[in-house]
Amino acid sequence: MQRRAFLGVMLGSAISAMANTQKHDNSVWIQTEQIDVFLSVCQKIELVKRAVGYGNFNILSFDDMLKTALMYSHIGEFTKNELSFIEEMFYENPNKYGFYGRRTVPSLTTNINENDVIKIERTGHYLFRGHSEGSYERVIQDVGDSLMLTSGVRGVPKQMNLYFNKIKSTGGNITEAAHSLAPPAFSYHSIGDFDVGKKGWGYKNFTISFATTKEFWRLRQLSYISMRYTINNKDGVRFEPWHVKII
Ligand SMILES: [Zn+2]
Repeated sequence: MQRRAFLGVMLGSAISAMANTQKHDNSVWIQTEQIDVFLSVCQKIELVKRAVGYGNFNILSFDDMLKTALMYSHIGEFTKNELSFIEEMFYENPNKYGFYGRRTVPSLTTNINENDVIKIERTGHYLFRGHSEGSYERVIQDVGDSLMLTSGVRGVPKQMNLYFNKIKSTGGNITEAAHSLAPPAFSYHSIGDFDVGKKGWGYKNFTISFATTKEFWRLRQLSYISMRYTINNKDGVRFEPWHVKII
């Protein structure tokens, strides 16, 4: 190929790559005047997570997060501004971000009863006793123990932590974040769904590579579970082969 033609092709693909990233043209962003409060909220939630421990944080209630922050002088009480920012983010309608899933957590202070959940050994994660726990055990039996729980029950602070970190990683683009993580009041992890992955695969379990594993192919054959976020799902969430929906 001649150099000029080659450059033309390169330019063409660069332009189509740009067109792809521009599909979120009407993205909603963290407003300039919200950046400080957003970052301080992120920081406090992160410090609470470290204070209570990763496992406990999964099911920590919103009120207990506030109490923990108050208890530790290096974290400090959530300010009025921080709380109203959190409330706004929790109660607003995420349709404007292109997210159409249903609300699963009615209130910021909805908490998880510790008696309703069971900690799954060696994972640091929890499942709801009964249906979720039973389905998980059945899945491990049917697929084999190369499969493991990678995320289970999530309380409000946990989902908030994941969601806010995602927004941070997009440089404040809420629309882009909501495409790969449900906003805090909209996670099915709050009502029974869980994520599974292949042992030793680490972060790759949360990429579409998981769909190439034989564990995933086995999962697809099981009649008592299904995939929550299929390709082009109506919720507006990316394809998530690792996220198990209980039937
Ligand atoms: Zn999930």
